[in-house]
Amino acid sequence: MKKPENNQDNFSGCICLDCSLFTSCNQKKNEKLFCARKKSDCEMDSQKMCICGMCPIYSENELSGGYFCINEIVEEKA
Ligand code: SF4
Repeated sequence: MKKPENNQDNFSGCICLDCSLFTSCNQKKNEKLFCARKKSDCEMDSQKMCICGMCPIYSENELSGGYFCINEIVEEKA
């Protein structure tokens, strides 16, 4: 799976702030757009429901799975 572009458009379009997993820790660290960046440095509760599947960046980039704040996308070597 290919990571989306880590750019301002995608950062603005990310819906992570609306997610039940998103915490004040993520806010403080200005963390989101995990799919294009890296997994969170904060404690994330995988029991809660991820909303990545409802995100425009998710569909635009044909991502699969979710919880990118916990499961970082590892790009296959070409
Ligand atoms: S797919 Fe998830 S991590 Fe990526 S931009 Fe959308 S909400 Fe954020």
